[in-house]
Amino acid sequence: MNMKKQTITRVSEQIAAPLTAIASPQRIAILLAIGQGEACVCHLEAALGWRQAYISQHLMSLRKADVLEDRREGRYVYYRLKNQSYLDLLSTSAEICGLSSDSVVALTHSKTYPSCECPHCSPAVIPVGDVRIKTSA
Ligand SMILES: [Zn+2]
Repeated sequence: MNMKKQTITRVSEQIAAPLTAIASPQRIAILLAIGQGEACVCHLEAALGWRQAYISQHLMSLRKADVLEDRREGRYVYYRLKNQSYLDLLSTSAEICGLSSDSVVALTHSKTYPSCECPHCSPAVIPVGDVRIKTSA
């Protein structure tokens, strides 16, 4: 009996870890904005309208908590979900609070922002060696 209780306690602690790591509206927004793809800080800045330093702070915590992983490419650092199941977790939570999971999934589809200069949003910016030149102004 005591053994079983210990196991439940230990399992509960493990289950709580990812939930605790993402349990704030800001972090959930970041996960939704990254969605199934990957995003750099400037892209999240355009998507969410928050200060870059503020977003970086959350990205750092999410990476520390093993929720996100990052990848450097040139002068950009891209963040992506380490486990896509976080998106399932978010749509399930959305259903629990009465939102349609479809509307949540729609938010995770990668968008482009005119104010963002990342390669995903500005494909007109092509790398020429280390220098990036806009092909159309
Ligand atoms: Zn972008």
